[in-house]
Amino acid sequence: MSSENLRSIAKTIAIDREERFFDRPVDQNGNYKRISEYYGENVFHFSDAHGIPENIRKELEEVSQTGKKLKREHADIVAKAVTEWALSKGATHFCHWFQPLTGSTAEKHDAFLDFDHHGLPIENLSASQLIQGEPDASSFPNGGSRATFEARGYTAWDMTSPMFLIEGQSGKTLCIPTAFVSYHGDALDIKTPLLRSISNLSDLACEFMQIIGFEETKRVSVTCGAEQEYFLIDKAFYFSRPDLVMTGRALVGADAKKNQQLDDHYFGAIPERVLNFMEELDLELHKLGIPAKTRHNEVAPGQFELAQIFREANIAADNNQLVMATIKEVALRHNFIALLHEKPFAGINGSGKHLNWSMATDQGVNLLEPGAEVHNNMRFLAVTSIVVEAVKRRAKLLRASIASAGNDHRLGANEAPPSIMSVFLGDTIGKIFTSIKEGKDIEKDVAVTLDMGAKQLVHLPKDNTDRNRTSPFAFTGNKFEFRAVGSAKAIGLPLCILNSAVAEVFVESNAFLKEEIAKGTDVEKALLKLTKKWTDSASEVIFNGDGYSDDWVQEAAKRGLPNLRTTADALDVFIDASETKYLREAKILSDSELQTRYHVLVERYCTLRAIEFDTQLSLVHKYIIPAALEYKKQVAETIRMQKDLGFDTNIEHDILKSLNLACESLFENARNLKNMINDQPEEGIERARKIANELYPMSEKIAGYCNELEEIIPDKLWELPTFYDMLYLR
Ligand code: ADP
Ligand code: MG
Repeated sequence: MSSENLRSIAKTIAIDREERFFDRPVDQNGNYKRISEYYGENVFHFSDAHGIPENIRKELEEVSQTGKKLKREHADIVAKAVTEWALSKGATHFCHWFQPLTGSTAEKHDAFLDFDHHGLPIENLSASQLIQGEPDASSFPNGGSRATFEARGYTAWDMTSPMFLIEGQSGKTLCIPTAFVSYHGDALDIKTPLLRSISNLSDLACEFMQIIGFEETKRVSVTCGAEQEYFLIDKAFYFSRPDLVMTGRALVGADAKKNQQLDDHYFGAIPERVLNFMEELDLELHKLGIPAKTRHNEVAPGQFELAQIFREANIAADNNQLVMATIKEVALRHNFIALLHEKPFAGINGSGKHLNWSMATDQGVNLLEPGAEVHNNMRFLAVTSIVVEAVKRRAKLLRASIASAGNDHRLGANEAPPSIMSVFLGDTIGKIFTSIKEGKDIEKDVAVTLDMGAKQLVHLPKDNTDRNRTSPFAFTGNKFEFRAVGSAKAIGLPLCILNSAVAEVFVESNAFLKEEIAKGTDVEKALLKLTKKWTDSASEVIFNGDGYSDDWVQEAAKRGLPNLRTTADALDVFIDASETKYLREAKILSDSELQTRYHVLVERYCTLRAIEFDTQLSLVHKYIIPAALEYKKQVAETIRMQKDLGFDTNIEHDILKSLNLACESLFENARNLKNMINDQPEEGIERARKIANELYPMSEKIAGYCNELEEIIPDKLWELPTFYDMLYLR
């Protein structure tokens, strides 16, 4: 195998891959089933399941919406019904499915197998097995918040998110969405605080509606639709790149020359092998009741996106976890590896996860829908101003909620919104806000402002200027889009922080409105006053310009907006008493839960970077320096031979010189990084800072020298699949 290296074998495999065709579901007549005929077939929700009497269904609904105590006998009925359903579909096992602080999901399977009182085998899931589980909490990240003797934690059924079946090759498992809490009730997961934040915000938004006269509103829910970006590369390349396997991103690699300059990949025709994958992915998601809607090429070569239709935030968060897992799994069936990392390839776009966010009443009214009537517009403007104030006030927390090693590459880099939190409102609303802000005498100008607002707002959804992709937080017609969220991240934490930030401003807004209305101000004027209050307070966070420009960084600094560049800069916010006051007071995250998250995130950051550094050093010594030495040997031999023959060797000398130079610098820097790794007395956030400010820049330098060598070393001596191979060959 000496003449043929692993890389060229991988290339042959990738190019000659046989395409996978899969069976789409057909009906008895052999016709393809419509999506609506299999949508949700792997989902069980008591609200529409067989075997649950109507009156009990109603009670369950109420329990799940109000948090009232679930009756034992009702849990029994659900357990029986879901077991029947799961068994009829061929399930053998069940599991409590939860989201520990690792950001991925965890599950421990138990067989339905049980024995009756005659000792005969039966299938069974008891009410208590449905409601509660006891995984060993000590193996999950806890930020040192519990001593090991307190290893007990338990999972508790989340009635608001439907149960579902995961299909394996030859068996199926019933997954029960659960929260994961410690023995003392501390949330050890992402879901629990999210649920708390949702019910807190729902209550406050509902109160707001009541105050302004919408007495029929009994419930407000938080809505969310996540767009998921990812890269696909052939499996053969993946396993020839230890850095991708270990860290999810290419730690070295020269660019492929044609990247995205021509903008020809975005929305381009989807390659056939990828389309096959997407079709199977959609099928799996639809069976899981996940409303996958849109699929397309993204900006970078090899990059794609999936968007699902929005729904209640808690379910959307569970859905997104399943989407990520399903993308990876279905990709493998097609011999692809899906890379969900925020920046798998330096120099081209990274991947994000746009969080589309709004609130809706039980009457189906979207609180961020501009609408046509003046009256509704005032409500809309007030709610919008509340969100803007929330982003201004809790910009640091929002930044911290999306902080990760991976996202640091993306924020501020190519095509990603910067780490400075600002809000894009677009021209129309921007103008209305400015005129409200400038209105010297609100009383007198009300009519004028409203009239102007009303006329323009009607046309708002068609307003194409609302397409500023450089903003981390943008109003897009009838919802906000939090775009700075990373592609690999669970959306639960950013959602929780966003909900809470908005809730905090709702508390003050509701008090303000009550007072105004008690004074005799009519509702519309009170809403206008409120809007003015928040636009006055938050105008500096509104920015409609180019968020990628250097000018903005300076301008933002002038406006006093925080710019927490790295994860190491951002995480401290979680233990900042004034920043987290509301989270603690509203009982969304307690002091110890915040500490836990802080420690887990700091530790994760340091550990991930440490793995990257070690992996990169091993690439340098095992692949890159050996390739350079081999080429040096070849050039040196050529020089000797040419000299023997009496030929000039100037060019060969130059090549050898540049090889030597790059090699020396690379070796030197690799040694420095190694020394810095070994010499790190710091711990916790101090260590994270040192990594972000000293070690990471060193590893970037190392990557630079590696790439320089890659550019001069002959292709056939280069063992690592290149960006060209990975992004273009399939
Ligand atoms: P884009 O042009 O950004 O792709 P789309 O209109 O296709 O915008 O919507 C993107 C996402 O926003 C989808 O997931 C969609 O379901 C979601 N979305 C639309 N309305 C709302 C809403 N009221 N609340 C939350 N998400 C929403
Ligand atoms: Mg979008």
